[in-house]
Amino acid sequence: MSFDGLKQVIEKYWGFRTLRPLQEPAMRAVLDGRDSLVVLPTGGGKSLCYQAPAVLRGDTTVVVSPLIALMKDQVDGLHECQVPAIQIDSSQTAEERFAYEMDIRQGAIRLLFVSPERLVTPNFQALLRQIDVKNFAIDEAHCISHWGHDFRPEYRQLNQLKDWFPGAAVHAYTATATERVRQDICQQLRLENPEVLVGSFDRPNLAYRVTPRFELNAQVLEVLKRHPNEPGIIYCIRRKDVDELTADLKAQGIDARPYHAGMSPEDRKAAQDAFVQEHCNLIVATVAFGMGIDRSNIRFVLHTGMPKSLEHYQQETGRAGRDGLEAECVLLHSGSDFMLWKFLIEKSAEEGQADEQYVASAMQHLRDMQRYATGTVCRHRALVQYFGQKFPADTCLACDICLGDRETTPEATVLAQKILSCVARVKESFGINHVAQVLRGGAGEAIARHGHDQLSTYGLLKEHTLPVIQDWIRQLLSQGLLLQAGDEYPVLKLNAASWEAMKGKRDVKLFQPMQRRKEGAPAKSQAEQAAWEGVDRELFESLSVWRRQVAAQRGVAAFQIFSDATLRELARVRPSGLPGLRLVYGIGEVKLKEHGAALMQLIAEHCLRRDLSMDNAPGPVQGEKARSERPKTTQDRARAFELFRRGASIEQVAEQTEWTPKRVSGFLCDYIASARPASLAPWLPDDVVQRVTAAARRVGVERLKPIYVALGEQIPYDDIRLVLAHLGAGEQNPTG
Ligand code: ADP
Repeated sequence: MSFDGLKQVIEKYWGFRTLRPLQEPAMRAVLDGRDSLVVLPTGGGKSLCYQAPAVLRGDTTVVVSPLIALMKDQVDGLHECQVPAIQIDSSQTAEERFAYEMDIRQGAIRLLFVSPERLVTPNFQALLRQIDVKNFAIDEAHCISHWGHDFRPEYRQLNQLKDWFPGAAVHAYTATATERVRQDICQQLRLENPEVLVGSFDRPNLAYRVTPRFELNAQVLEVLKRHPNEPGIIYCIRRKDVDELTADLKAQGIDARPYHAGMSPEDRKAAQDAFVQEHCNLIVATVAFGMGIDRSNIRFVLHTGMPKSLEHYQQETGRAGRDGLEAECVLLHSGSDFMLWKFLIEKSAEEGQADEQYVASAMQHLRDMQRYATGTVCRHRALVQYFGQKFPADTCLACDICLGDRETTPEATVLAQKILSCVARVKESFGINHVAQVLRGGAGEAIARHGHDQLSTYGLLKEHTLPVIQDWIRQLLSQGLLLQAGDEYPVLKLNAASWEAMKGKRDVKLFQPMQRRKEGAPAKSQAEQAAWEGVDRELFESLSVWRRQVAAQRGVAAFQIFSDATLRELARVRPSGLPGLRLVYGIGEVKLKEHGAALMQLIAEHCLRRDLSMDNAPGPVQGEKARSERPKTTQDRARAFELFRRGASIEQVAEQTEWTPKRVSGFLCDYIASARPASLAPWLPDDVVQRVTAAARRVGVERLKPIYVALGEQIPYDDIRLVLAHLGAGEQNPTG
């Protein structure tokens, strides 16, 4: 089965013209019948890796999934693309199940979704044997591992899958990062010589902003103002905070719905349904909200308090921007969040719900989380490194640190020296609070008892408030210029770096802690800047309303009809006819037939009413661009150019630099455009260059898609782009 055939299937049924990182090797593994483990972040496109090959193969792939809601989302989405798919679950009647089983026996089903509990039953296995199932896809595969955060005992029984179906290939998919979990998945599922593919955990389309919490309501409103009517989730630590914040927002006329485990199951379901079906755009929730929520166009996730681990933070923020478009993740934090979590962890230990090992690990997670919150390094880098990967660029240009959003403290080195010498004067035997009190010149009993009011550092920072001093101390901790030891009463300790700073051998950078960011709106990330370029917002809103109506009629979630990326592209290009519509990202043959006429009418009427131009040149497909690109730094560019000058191929550069081939290809395009090498021989076969050149002469160089089509959809977009760069046709849109 050819890979080109697979690309045609994807284009026809899904309307996608490019693949995301690692989708190609993941799909090849499925086509080759080789076991695989695919680790991609949320929104990375794991499902397409088993869905598209199932369509091309024409047999039945069994997908194991832990939640009915997750199965339903996928089945709905597949039906919208007219791919035959069903789920078998306990909510169905005997008649329904009988009818489904008939379809399965007749081989009419491409994707069959089941829970692990059902898969282990002998009757169901007998049914699968009748149709000789050759492929199993295990979704959310980390549920099989004790080390994962979502262990499910039912998943454990899948370790017999290889006995039940010898000869069938098993493919595992997860977004969970740790090596331990990965190994466990391979072992438990007994994968044989699996293709293991681990994607980057970075989410370039997310802009991370972390700010101390000083005035909760005002800070929340500021974020909401940046996202008028846009879908978002506000996470609070406690149920009580959820109720209070929801009430405050409602009092201001903002339609926010609460969600937490203290509500009745009916109320919770109503809130969740309203959010998923786009009747409401704002949910205020505890961490209880989220599992099984696949809404792809969440534009912001706001944490009003610090989560208890970076794993939780990654998972919760990961719900933003699954469609690849820009999204913002704001974290408001305070030292009291740490104390609250510490209290809760200790309480669970006292109540016998947690053993010593658990407490130690929970405290470590909490400290890591706090280090991130008070940290002064790039947020993308900090997250990616925490999950054990290298960060590929010098700057992300998509976080408060890299965008220069926070004001630095003047004379930070001197300030740090004062703090560090106070830690030395109290003989490294006291915690953050006490040291801050001494520096502030406080009058507490403990200070007098230890004679700390006699120290030379007493009152050295009396012009600053206590929380400010505490925050600076935390910043020093997060930079490794101070240490904390002891769990019960952690005391501040000095290390070699502290002494270097005290002796003036090291410059220190500190942020103004309790201040707002610099005046005005925060600087925008690349993805945020590009987000609405050329898009007619009013038309986008009308298209969203139309999408919601169609979704309601069909009983599916709105994003299953079209993603926001497609709607924005429609509102930007405003095609006047079916051929123009067909060129829009996310519109394949199937959806064109289904919705083309309605879209054309809606767009034409709007353009007429507002006197807007139609058939505009498409911009870059924002979601896919943000997903695959990192800012090209001067250093990286110079490095790439030098390698190309020496004739290195894309693969060689990718291997040497550990950049993705897509990024390397972007650099190569720039290199070709600026250096104009005599020939493209090191990178492309001669006949490809000639064919693309000829096609470009015939259909023009303004857009890639017509060239792609003229060449029978055989030559990848990246190759076309290289030839056009050589012809001097300038920057091209990645997917036409
Ligand atoms: P995951 O399961 O990894 O969290 P999904 O499979 O739900 O991610 O994919 C996230 C979104 O990306 C979906 O809307 C999907 O249709 C879309 N998508 C997947 N692959 C591509 C692609 N190659 N091009 C464009 N969009 C894609």
